Amino acid sequence: MDIRMFSLQKLEKEHEELVNNKDLASFKKDLQKSKKEIQEIINSYNNMKEQQEIIVRDLKRIEDENNSFLSEIQTKEKNLYNNSDAGFKELESMKENIEELKEQYREKEEEQIELIAASEDLAEGIEKEKEVIKEKKQEFNEELKEFKKLEEINDKKIKEKEVEIQEMIQELPPEVYSKYQAVQKKYPLTGIAVLEEGNKCSYCRLNVSVVKLREVERKDITYCESCSRLLTGKKEDIK
Ligand SMILES: [Zn+2]
Repeated sequence: MDIRMFSLQKLEKEHEELVNNKDLASFKKDLQKSKKEIQEIINSYNNMKEQQEIIVRDLKRIEDENNSFLSEIQTKEKNLYNNSDAGFKELESMKENIEELKEQYREKEEEQIELIAASEDLAEGIEKEKEVIKEKKQEFNEELKEFKKLEEINDKKIKEKEVEIQEMIQELPPEVYSKYQAVQKKYPLTGIAVLEEGNKCSYCRLNVSVVKLREVERKDITYCESCSRLLTGKKEDIK
C-alpha cells in the first residue's frame, strides 16, 4: 500500500492533539477555578456591605430613640422641679421613673458603642476585601490574556495542520484515499501502521511473519496478523 497513508494519519493525529490541547484545557480549568474564587470573595464583600448598611440603619434608630429618651428625661426632670410641692410618694415615684429612663438610656448607649465598634471592624474588612478583589481580578486578567495568546497560537497551528492534511489528501490517488477512509472508520487514527526496525508492527509492536514482510515490500494490501492494522510500508521509507 501507499506509505503516505501513514503520514496522513500522523498529520490527523497531530491535528486531533491540537484540537484537544491538554495544556490549554487545564489552563482553562484553572481560569474557571480562579473566576469562581473571585466570585466567592465578591459575594462575601457584598454580604459585609449589606451588614454595614443594616448597622448604619440600627445606629440611626438608636440615635433617634436616645434623643427622645433624653428629651423625655429632661421634661420629667423639669416636672419634678416644678412639682416640689407634690406629695412625698408622688415625688419618689417620679424620681424612680426618671432613674429607670436613665438606666434604659445608658443601655442604649452601650448598644450604640458596640454597634459602632462592629461597624468599624466591618469597614476595615470591606477595605481589605476590596483590595483582594482588585488584586485577584488583575491576576485573572493577566492570566486570561496569556490564555488567549496561547489559544491563538494553537488555533493557528490547527489551521496550518488542516492545510497540510488537505495537501496530503490531494496528493493521494483517490482509491488510496478511500481505502484510508475505510480503515479510519474502523480504527480511528490508529488503522494505519508501518514496519519498524526488526519488522515490528508500529501499532502492536509485535513481529510480523516473513510472508507479511514480502507482501509489504510488494506494496500489497496487507494487515498485521496480531492487530489487523493496515501495513503500508517500512518506517525508513517515510519521506
Ligand atoms: Zn500490529
